[in-house]
Amino acid sequence: MAAKMKNTILIVDDEPDIVNLTEKFLKLGDFDTITSSNAKEAMKIIEESYDRIALILLDIMMPGRSGYSVLEEVKNNEKFKDILVVLFTVKSFNEDVQKGKKLGADAYITKPFSGKELLNRIKEILGKDN
Ligand SMILES: [Mg+2]
Repeated sequence: MAAKMKNTILIVDDEPDIVNLTEKFLKLGDFDTITSSNAKEAMKIIEESYDRIALILLDIMMPGRSGYSVLEEVKNNEKFKDILVVLFTVKSFNEDVQKGKKLGADAYITKPFSGKELLNRIKEILGKDN
């Protein structure tokens, strides 16, 4: 029997349009998805489901806690060490990339993006680490 493969992507973004587009295309790519609109709820989901989450797609600017706080918490917990974190960044926000790098982000996806681009990028990111 093949080793158990993690196939779930957690999408965290406070903009419903982004969540819907992202979820739709990831499902077309045969991924399972979980969605959340805020950092606090996202951390609860990660605690409960980390054994099946392969990757977190994480918005930075959200009401309440930012995406950075989720990134930091995930990267500082041994339990979550094999979860990849991909930040959604707004074009030309170089400081997002710099700060994300410092906190251990694995990759970036620049907004705005097309669903097809997103799916290809996610596959590429997961492929690299397998
Ligand atoms: Mg946002």
